[in-house]
Order: sequence, then C-alpha cells, then structure tokens
Amino acid sequence: MWSLIKIPRKFRHSYLFFLPLTFFNLGSYSQEIINTDTHRLEKVADGVYFAVGTGNIYTMSNALIIERESDVVIVDSHITPAAGRALLDSIQSVTEKPVTTLINSHFHYDHSNGTPAFGNDIEIIGHEVTYQKLTTDPENEHTFQSSLIRFNNTISRLQSELDNSSNNDEREQLQRELEYWQRHVEAQSEIVFTPPTQTLRDKMTLYRGGREIQLHYFGRAHTGGDLAIYLPEEKIVFTGDMMLGGISYMGDGYVAEWADTLQGLKGLDIELILPGHGPSFTDKERISLVQDYYTSLTEEVRRLKNLGYSADEAAARADLRQHEALGINQLGANQEAVQRMYDIWNGNIQ
Ligand SMILES: [Zn+2]
Repeated sequence: MWSLIKIPRKFRHSYLFFLPLTFFNLGSYSQEIINTDTHRLEKVADGVYFAVGTGNIYTMSNALIIERESDVVIVDSHITPAAGRALLDSIQSVTEKPVTTLINSHFHYDHSNGTPAFGNDIEIIGHEVTYQKLTTDPENEHTFQSSLIRFNNTISRLQSELDNSSNNDEREQLQRELEYWQRHVEAQSEIVFTPPTQTLRDKMTLYRGGREIQLHYFGRAHTGGDLAIYLPEEKIVFTGDMMLGGISYMGDGYVAEWADTLQGLKGLDIELILPGHGPSFTDKERISLVQDYYTSLTEEVRRLKNLGYSADEAAARADLRQHEALGINQLGANQEAVQRMYDIWNGNIQ
C-alpha cells in the first residue's frame, strides 16, 4: 500500500518529510526502459522519455524528455546543476540532438535548480508566476530554505548514528549515506537561480519539429503558476506537482482552488500521467480522489476556523479519515497547509 517503503533508505527521510504522499497499485505503462547510471528512462512514446533518478545522484524530482526533428525539449531540470548535468548525460544516451528548450513545470527548487547545466543559450519557458518567483529573492523562499535545513539535519543525524554505531556493516552503510548527502549539500553551492526567458499566462503551443507540445495553466494549485505539459497526439501529460499519485505538498499551495484547477486537467484527453515525483500512472480516477480530498480539507478547515479554532488546533482536529484511499487513517491535517489556508483567508497571503 505504501509503495514509498520501496524507496531506498537514503531517500526516505527527506522525501517523506517533503511529500505527504501515498501511492496506489500503479499500473505499468512503459514500452521500453533505458537505464543509465543516474536515470531510468521510461520510453512512453516515440522519442518521449519519462526520466526518474536511480539514486546514484540526488535528483529529487522527475523530468520529461521530448525529442523533436532536430532538437530536444525537456521539462524540469532537477534539484542541482550536478543533477541537471546527469540528466543531460542520460539524454545523450538516447539522442545526440541538442537540448534547446527547457520548460519549468513550476518554480520549486527541486524542479528548477538544475537549469544552469543546460547552458546560457537555452530557451526557458515558464509561467509568469515562475518568472516572478525566480527573480524575487528565490534564495529566501521558505521551501528552499527549509530544504537546506532538512538536508543539514539529515547529515547531522547520520553523523550521530555513525558515531554511535559499533556494527561494521551498519557503519559502512551509514558512511555511504552520509557521503551521498554530503555530495548533495556540496552540489548546492553551484546553484544559480535561473528564471524563464519566455513566459506565458494561460496557454502556449510549440509546433516545431513534428511535435505539438501544449503548455496549459488551469489555475492555482500546488503553486501560483503550475503548468501541465501536454502532448495531444500521444495523449500524455506531465503534471509537475499539481497532480501526483496522491496528495501533493501544500506549503505553497492554494488548497481551496486546487480541485477546480484539476477539473481543467481532466478536460484533456489523457491516457498517461507523468507526475513530478513518483511513478507514472494511467488511472485518471486518481485525479477525482485528490480533488475530493482538497475539497474536504477546504470545507473541514473552514468549519473549524468558523468555530474559532486556531490553525494549529484545526490541523490537529481536522477529520479527513473518509479519504482512506489516499492513505489517511488518522485525525489531523498537515499543519503547514492549514496555516497557509488561514493566512490566505485572513488576507496575509495573496
Ligand atoms: Zn513542487
């Protein structure tokens, strides 16, 4: 049920912490898998590859590779320039064509900080909000800042586990994990926040090179500027973090608007969904499940707020156990999400 359990131990702490996410029985779709040192490339259509990290370098997020007649378009660039370079290397194992265009699904650090790996000449397309976020003090965005703290905490914890362990096998394992996270933290020093070179508000379509690529903005959801990248011919959509296999991180989200935004996504003729984290899936019903969750969360938190409870109290009391299919089996909701809903309703956040 909790397929996150399959994630290698080194990922669990930061990944689970970041995404209160559950997966279901996921149907496999891929036609062919190409394994590189750092990526598992799932060929989802001719010249279209869903790129998932193998764990040899910390990528944190998925990416999409779309080949055209004479070039390559990618969606998202991972968490660091080093992870972005690993993606570029993996792309070169399936095509020699140059990567000319990068689409940002949204502004979050784990999807956009690998961008410098693709050079200065690349066209970067993103939503206006992504541009605004990546040009207005991105270093101090709370999601980025909290990730830095989280990675440092992981290193401290591993260091103290290592100091306290006398079992040789365990020490070896801890040492490997520690070095893995230290490499990631060192890789962060190379980060240069790189905004889009071209923006859109509602929709843009790329027609070059025998491939139609549609970029849709359906409204606010996981951030203020989430794009769905849709290939109409192939009936494939890359959803970034606006639609994962389960509930997304809500710390920059617009929970009360999210279900409506996903209604727009449902308007597309889709056979395969490629999320920003976790495996691909074909079951569109899952969109309805998470829509229902965001709607109930909105109603429940509003009800508790109207009863005079503080955000912390509401987060502790919220009863969403009817969403058992999403793995919710105890009382309470994500505190950060509830606080943000209060802030939005109180007019503290636009
Ligand atoms: Zn995100």
